[in-house]
Amino acid sequence: MAATAPQLPDVDFESMPAEELIRWSHAEFGTRLVLTCSWQKQSSALVHMVSELGLPIDVVELDTQLFFKESYETREALVERYGLTLIRPEVITVAEQHKREGPNLWESDPDRCCHIRKVEPLLAALEPYDAWISGIRRDQSPSRASTPKLEWSERYDVWKVHPLADWDEKRVWAYIHVNEIPYNPLHDTGYRSIGCIPCTRPTRPDEEERAGRWAGSDKLECGIHLDEPIKETT
Ligand code: SF4
Repeated sequence: MAATAPQLPDVDFESMPAEELIRWSHAEFGTRLVLTCSWQKQSSALVHMVSELGLPIDVVELDTQLFFKESYETREALVERYGLTLIRPEVITVAEQHKREGPNLWESDPDRCCHIRKVEPLLAALEPYDAWISGIRRDQSPSRASTPKLEWSERYDVWKVHPLADWDEKRVWAYIHVNEIPYNPLHDTGYRSIGCIPCTRPTRPDEEERAGRWAGSDKLECGIHLDEPIKETT
């Protein structure tokens, strides 16, 4: 059962730079603060930022087992460079999903597929935490344009912390290049937003950053950043 938002100090989160928001969140939530990664450019920036701040923040990998090999190579490069110990939520294998739900569920019912491979593992992963840092940004798509720096999620019973909410794509790249941070090489080949292989294509320069995700359908989000009550889709 979702709880109501706990009281927080009266702080102007919107004016906080990314590093300050992460520092404040760690001071407020301590070890009950977690960062999630799916090995796009935002993951690279946030892993580096947390490391530079010297804060012991848990890192959860949201791996659907359907990522590109370049995403897994990026994970390995970041693990090696920053000495990460990843927490990996359980997810059923793709073979098991084929058996239970029929082949290629991402084609027949992508919402159900995202529910099984992303939303349910994330729900379990966030159980021990009070606050969740994610890399979503307002300029990624109209559906993310009003993302606040900090918001309560009834669905997950956590505060959602968005240090990069007011960063644009250029600023993420500048941060990565100036700091020589390992990043997903697919970004250099037209993939401005990267998810699972079956649901990601490269993006043209005149398209929105996330236009290559579930292209050709009206699906815009995998569902982990929506805050509707969980619907059982079986
Ligand atoms: S992005 Fe596609 S393949 Fe990945 S979990 Fe969602 S529907 Fe399934």
